[in-house]
Amino acid sequence: MLSLPEKVCRSCRRIVLKDKCPICGGDSFTTTWTGVAHILDANDSIIATEMGVDIPGKYALRVR
Ligand SMILES: [Zn+2]
Repeated sequence: MLSLPEKVCRSCRRIVLKDKCPICGGDSFTTTWTGVAHILDANDSIIATEMGVDIPGKYALRVR
């Protein structure tokens, strides 16, 4: 199984490809995460509500 190149912001769990999180501005990342939640409409998503996410995008379900 290939390891995913993406890293995940520790504070908001957004999957980030750059050196700085575009959502919260954080620069602390982890590559140890599992599951991807595609939030398309944050206002109409149970997952988004549970995760406290209000910006559409890709998020990790679990971060270690
Ligand atoms: Zn973030």
